[in-house]
Amino acid sequence: AYAAYTGARLIHSLGAGIDHLLADPQLPVQAAICRLVDPMLTLRMIEYVALHVLRHHRRHDQLVQQQQNQIWQQIAAPAARDRTVGVMGLGALGGAVAISLHNLGFHVQGWSRTAKNLPGIDTFHGTDGLRSFLQKTEILVCLLPLTEATRDIVNQNLLSQLPRGARFINAARGHHVVDQDLLAALDSGHIAEATLDVFRTEPLSTDHPYWRHPRVTVTPHIASLTDPVSAAKVVADNIQRLLQGRPLINQVDRTAGY
Ligand code: NAP
Repeated sequence: AYAAYTGARLIHSLGAGIDHLLADPQLPVQAAICRLVDPMLTLRMIEYVALHVLRHHRRHDQLVQQQQNQIWQQIAAPAARDRTVGVMGLGALGGAVAISLHNLGFHVQGWSRTAKNLPGIDTFHGTDGLRSFLQKTEILVCLLPLTEATRDIVNQNLLSQLPRGARFINAARGHHVVDQDLLAALDSGHIAEATLDVFRTEPLSTDHPYWRHPRVTVTPHIASLTDPVSAAKVVADNIQRLLQGRPLINQVDRTAGY
């Protein structure tokens, strides 16, 4: 797609993820790559994750089912402080999501590549920190970038380290998840429910088992759509920085892949 742009100095993603750009063999080598970090994008992601964490926490799906069968049965959910939510990826989105969940009263844990210090949040990092992070996580939220190190990370090995009955929310990239492993964990009851916004192939094919799985919620990659008005300001600012020779913001480290 970039063959004609050999002289490009800046390639600005209109989304937070840039995995699709780095995967393009024609990407000009000298161009800086910037990704979108935008307050609106962050706010919309906070909404999506809060919605689904609360849904799982308060067992809302079970209440919906009860209504369909005219069943009046009170379901007691633990207090938020007694529910541990684990956020994988503590960047622009994951960091803000972790703080918003903490503000809702949840016990929040976060996992990142390098050590982080977020007030009120138990943080873990690196391969060594992953096991302890997973051990207590009852609702796992994936907000990692897709890189060589994170592809297929949500596999049988990772899922088996979560407590039985854990829930999973993926709002990052479909390639983070090994679908057969997640389906097997759902079918064995080890994972109680999953909410998936992103898939290895999008749109999700009509015959994919996720569509009809009773404990999977499928949304069509809408967790946080780019807001053109708000995003344009961020992109314009970066173009101005380039023209004025000032440092760019949100520049991607090509080696790290994000
Ligand atoms: P970001 O700011 O680049 O943050 C990435 C976070 O992941 C950082 O905390 C980073 O650790 C951590 N990380 C990276 N590699 C890791 C590894 N190998 N092990 C552990 N942690 C690792 O990314 P973002 O802007 O928050 O975006 C997060 C994801 O959301 C992306 O996948 C993006 O594509 C997706 N997204 C989805 C939607 C949607 O609608 N579904 C919308 C927007 C974005 P360090 O802090 O140590 O660097």
